[in-house]
Amino acid sequence: MTQEIRKKIVAGNWKMNGRRAFAKELVAAIAAQPVSGCEQIVCTPYPYLSGVHDQLSGSALKLGAQNVSEQEDGAFTGEVSAEMLADCGCDYVLVGHSERRSLYGESDQVVADKFVRALDSGITPILCLGETLEERESGATEKVVARQLDAVVAATGIAAFARAVIAYEPVWAIGTGLTASPQQAQEVHAFIRQKLAKEDVQIAAGVSILYGGSVKADNAAALFAGDDIDGGLIGGASLDADSFLAICKATTK
Ligand code: PEP
Repeated sequence: MTQEIRKKIVAGNWKMNGRRAFAKELVAAIAAQPVSGCEQIVCTPYPYLSGVHDQLSGSALKLGAQNVSEQEDGAFTGEVSAEMLADCGCDYVLVGHSERRSLYGESDQVVADKFVRALDSGITPILCLGETLEERESGATEKVVARQLDAVVAATGIAAFARAVIAYEPVWAIGTGLTASPQQAQEVHAFIRQKLAKEDVQIAAGVSILYGGSVKADNAAALFAGDDIDGGLIGGASLDADSFLAICKATTK
């Protein structure tokens, strides 16, 4: 299996930004310029999912959510289930974003449960992994990423990764303007793929692994040049259509 058969993917994580009119305008601008050979995803805030889904009908642009409950339906005030996301037309959902792990205390087990819920509802989970600056500086990057990945593999088995995407996002690079160097990023991506390959070579070769952390139009091509880097998870730069589109185009160079 060669890299060419892996999907190139760019997912925009809008986080808690924008209002209805902004969402409509941004989606219209992105959908108007499809980038062939790149799966483009917008992960909008919950309230705008249905509206964006309606707006996307007939477009190649895919819809993602930024979070999902680890619970099924029931008395979980304020939570949103995977079935609800599917009902709103979501194709993808982020699980284990570092902001969820650090600000909302999501453990590896909770992230694994969310991953399972997404798959059970027919939604592709984008599993976010990454180390803090302290962990990188103490040489623990691989240990941390392995622990985060192992929790999910233990919960689902390796076969589930045929229907999932991974995003490596060093925490110290998210929203900081710092990026991993292309070499640092490639090293961790290769580590993740080799780790999965110990379980199943074909699944490892087929899973798209995105890089995230201050990716911009001017650094995307260098980052995406790594053999094991199949696109990006983009925060700040996904709020501007031109930047987002330029990053999508960088996957096809
Ligand atoms: C993110 O939110 O996943 C992210 C990578 O953000 P930024 O691109 O702003 O660093």
